[in-house]
Amino acid sequence: MRLVNGIEKGIVIDHISSGKGMVVYNKLNLSQIANTTVLLMNIPSKHLGRKDIIKIEGDFDLNTALLGLIDTNIKVNIIENNEVIMKKFVEVPNQVSDIIKCSNPRCISHIDDYAKPVFTLMKQNGELEYQCNYCDELTKIKFK
Ligand SMILES: [Zn+2]
Repeated sequence: MRLVNGIEKGIVIDHISSGKGMVVYNKLNLSQIANTTVLLMNIPSKHLGRKDIIKIEGDFDLNTALLGLIDTNIKVNIIENNEVIMKKFVEVPNQVSDIIKCSNPRCISHIDDYAKPVFTLMKQNGELEYQCNYCDELTKIKFK
């Protein structure tokens, strides 16, 4: 685990499918935070052939539901004192709230600030589809 070294305390987002590292980087808004971050791309991997890795130094409130929407290959390592103290797997969330927006332009959630939509996973083969609790519209998840 040579690549994990060099971080004393922080998060390593490992096993990102090759090419999706930039998507994760952008969706987590890592260019907007003060933490030191590293995006490593096309690293040879036994399991995936090639993979991407993101390292975030220090404290960071990681949205693992968001990672689950992007790539379920991802494994998260929490580092403290140069050691992995916790490993987390990510999975497709059954329900999401603030991560996605309803695809129905007339949905009340776009107009009313207090209408916070909750989306429930309805379909999960190939692409993900979530149903809005306000208007029942299905919203497809696509990250590029
Ligand atoms: Zn809606």
